[in-house]
Amino acid sequence: KLYNQVQDLKGNIRVYCRVRPFLPGQPNRASTVDHIEEGNITIIAPSKYSKEGRKSFTFNKVFGPSATQGEVFSDTRPLIRSVLDGFNVCIFAYGQTGSGKTHTMSGPPELTEEGLGVNYRALGDLFLLSEQRKDTVCYDISVQMLEIYNEQVRDLLVTDEIRNSSQNGINVPDANLVPVSSTSDVITLMNLGQKNRAVGATAMNDRSSRSHSCLTVHVQGKDLTSGSILRGCMHLVDLAGSERVEKSEATGDRLKEAQHINRSLSALGDVIFSLAQKNSHVPYRNSKLTQLLQDSLGGQAKTLMFVHISPEPEGVGETISTLKFAERVS
Ligand code: ADP
Ligand code: MG
Repeated sequence: KLYNQVQDLKGNIRVYCRVRPFLPGQPNRASTVDHIEEGNITIIAPSKYSKEGRKSFTFNKVFGPSATQGEVFSDTRPLIRSVLDGFNVCIFAYGQTGSGKTHTMSGPPELTEEGLGVNYRALGDLFLLSEQRKDTVCYDISVQMLEIYNEQVRDLLVTDEIRNSSQNGINVPDANLVPVSSTSDVITLMNLGQKNRAVGATAMNDRSSRSHSCLTVHVQGKDLTSGSILRGCMHLVDLAGSERVEKSEATGDRLKEAQHINRSLSALGDVIFSLAQKNSHVPYRNSKLTQLLQDSLGGQAKTLMFVHISPEPEGVGETISTLKFAERVS
């Protein structure tokens, strides 16, 4: 039944676009979004980008600025469920810094029940469903949290306590894989991850926007009658900001970061594009990110890309390049 639901998603790659609302305290003004109609979004584009002054893009779904966290998640749900049936799933948040990636994946800085993002809701669903199936399948759920910064992978779940109980992860030898059984376990771990992630960042250098963070959930289910084991895995990835850095502005470390980000985001785009085209060669080897996710991109695995855009007209150049990236992979 669930399998059919997943098959209904038509292919293994979906792209959802989400438009951030104007932020509180911003003066009232016109949005760069002209209108949204089902899976279509039309942008007001200066003549530099479009003769007609408008540009339209089509995705599997478009969420306007008033879409709630719950609405966004409800269209993600079938994918989450498929993990318990042994599928691998990748969910990405793509967009320029400030466009709402972390909001979608984790939520606003002051977390409320309503504000909970995709990753908490996804784990909540996994716990709920595994509980419902407990008479037939016994599930073990554990998480890893990694950061990729300048093509270096770092484990974000490091404390002495966790180190002692660690097992080896699948893709990153040595990365901690921590068993979880409730949403509050997950919140505790995410807070630890956030704290570890902040190490090395300064006010001038908010590293979180220039690194990819990946929460990986490993699910193992044992069928209580047959004893057979199935494994599913879900990667929830808050990508580095996609904004182009002016060559003239960037020097030294900043330039190096920008080059790494460009390279890994294009490598990700190339992989998803090859998969969408059903190419025989998929270039996984071109970045740490795509190497890390190789088992969960392609084959039977399901991919969902949330592309985020900001409503401010002065960011229209970035908005158009984000939408072009997304349209290429959809
Ligand atoms: P990013 O992770 O892409 O840099 P954030 O998720 O941090 O962007 O969003 C930037 C700001 O906008 C934050 O203050 C965030 O809480 C707010 N924001 C983003 N998306 C929404 C939304 N859909 N509704 C309300 N506020 C949002
Ligand atoms: Mg962010």
